[in-house]
Amino acid sequence: MACSTKLKRTRFAPSPTGPLHLGHAYAALVAQSRADPGQFLLRIEDIDRSRCRPAWEAAIYDDLAWLGLTWQTPVWRQSGRLGAYQSALNHLISLGLCYPCRCSRADIRAALSAPQEGGPDGPCYPGTCRARQMHDATPTDAIRLNMARALARIGAPLSFTETGTTHAGAHVASEEWLLTTCGDIIISRRDMGTSYHLAVVVDDAAQGITEVTRGEDLFAATHIHRLLQALLGLPAPLYHHHTLIRDETGRRLAKRDDARALARFRAEGATPQDVRRLVGL
Ligand code: GLU
Repeated sequence: MACSTKLKRTRFAPSPTGPLHLGHAYAALVAQSRADPGQFLLRIEDIDRSRCRPAWEAAIYDDLAWLGLTWQTPVWRQSGRLGAYQSALNHLISLGLCYPCRCSRADIRAALSAPQEGGPDGPCYPGTCRARQMHDATPTDAIRLNMARALARIGAPLSFTETGTTHAGAHVASEEWLLTTCGDIIISRRDMGTSYHLAVVVDDAAQGITEVTRGEDLFAATHIHRLLQALLGLPAPLYHHHTLIRDETGRRLAKRDDARALARFRAEGATPQDVRRLVGL
């Protein structure tokens, strides 16, 4: 009997907005080990031009090479993929699922009757611009996804399989949560021409990623990603959300937290093996 095995392919997708820290080392090492014996890719997520710097990108290559990682080349940069994101956006627009929005964060706060945490992108949009049409969009507008319409287009449940330990198993993205907690998310930011959610699903599909490995802080966003994959006709990869490396007070590490920067450990004479031990690998 013929046996077809799909080559495993994972990625580590940092944004070059600061120094990599122990948490990034852990994420990259987990991604690489999940690919074994397949392919491990590095993707530079630099759509936020105001925060990304070439020097941080160069530091990513240095740090990862020092850790002993190797990756497929050429490395994709999201800043070189804007045409692909625009095509995906045009498809969503052609389905009648998008509208332009001119609201600032302050406008949204003012329109909400009570403060709320909301979904991965913050408070659920109150719908102020929902009746606006795409042909009235101006260059200073963001583009939002009309969540109720998007969900109405989806025939089948938005299921996905999680291989990480915290949420292991089969999941169905909750339509109720998408509608009432996430709401009409921004699908294209005014200063970027895309959003994290759109760029990540387009690229994971274009690169044939079989298992998306990333921190568990992005688990909730996966529900949005499954919706976008369904709308764009893209396959659903496996998902592996790993635990986050925290400091001794339990807070997750941040890029501004220089004390845990890999470059600092290197400068102080640590070895890659020391770093592996520090992150529990
Ligand atoms: N670029 C994101 C970050 O640096 C990771 C996104 C992802 O892995 O989906 O946090």
